[in-house]
Amino acid sequence: FFSFLTAFLLAYEPAKRLARLNIELNSSLVGARKLLEIIDAPASEPDDSDKPALRLSEARVEMRDVGFAYRTDEPVLKNMSFVAEPGKVTALVGPSGGGKSTVLSLLLRLYEVRSGTITIDGQPIADVSRQSLRQQTAYVGQDVYLFRDTIRANIAFGKPGASDDEIIAAAKAAYAHDFIMSFPHGYDTPVGEHGAQLSGGQRQRIAIARALVKNAPIILLDEATAALDSESERLVQAAIDHLCQNRTTIVIAHRLHTITHADAILVVEGGEIVERGRHDDLLQRNGRYASFFRLQQHNATPLAPQAAAV
Ligand code: ADP
Ligand code: MG
Repeated sequence: FFSFLTAFLLAYEPAKRLARLNIELNSSLVGARKLLEIIDAPASEPDDSDKPALRLSEARVEMRDVGFAYRTDEPVLKNMSFVAEPGKVTALVGPSGGGKSTVLSLLLRLYEVRSGTITIDGQPIADVSRQSLRQQTAYVGQDVYLFRDTIRANIAFGKPGASDDEIIAAAKAAYAHDFIMSFPHGYDTPVGEHGAQLSGGQRQRIAIARALVKNAPIILLDEATAALDSESERLVQAAIDHLCQNRTTIVIAHRLHTITHADAILVVEGGEIVERGRHDDLLQRNGRYASFFRLQQHNATPLAPQAAAV
């Protein structure tokens, strides 16, 4: 039982830290306090507001020889190097536990690298303030946290003080406007217990609208693993396509068919990139990616931990 519990906590931890991030960034907002109750007090991060702000030009993200471990004796990332080109989509795929979420956590500086460097437009992210890094980055996670507040407030969370026009434009681009307008109170509809009960796909589109309104040049996306019906999945994918447009995007993909057009695919396994290339090249190579892809076509399910361990 205890090993099960440990495994559960380990799997849960990165997601929890990533979720927490949203709150730290916007803790001035009413409603955020409620969220804190369900996901713990924020981890204390040493204050680094005296560091210079990240200055973006093209938003080129590079990891060079990055090594990382949560515990000293267990390397989680080993000399990982890749470039996420400006305005392009870089996809991370691979079995559960390989280190994909850890890559996103390090890019957000929820943890510091043990060795190597992460730079954005040539500036090591360790040398700039966390706040400036996170302002330029929108993270959309697997779990969508909505506050017990209106749909409008939930979208505006991405940019405190956003105008109605900005909120509506973001909701339209996220394919959320139509379902929002189908509620009697539209954008003023409360979500949660006594408000609108939103489907998984609708919640995700709200999260994408939130990221769109933030208008950050760098997008970090951890695709949801929970299955959506095919219409819902189509809309979420279309919303994601809008979000990624002309932004440097790093996406963890669980359904490989969503990244067949990615500019670069990195197969992450055991903390290393074991294959990289575009979809067609990787299929031709007939290695790890090709076998994952065939496995998914067979099962028509996302990479489950058991399946991925094969
Ligand atoms: P993926 O996203 O590819 O499934 P993760 O980055 O979540 O992989 O995890 C990589 C490895 O790091 C796994 O072995 C996982 O158990 C471990 N791990 C993740 N978070 C923590 C943590 N907070 N403490 C200790 N180990 C962790
Ligand atoms: Mg993960």
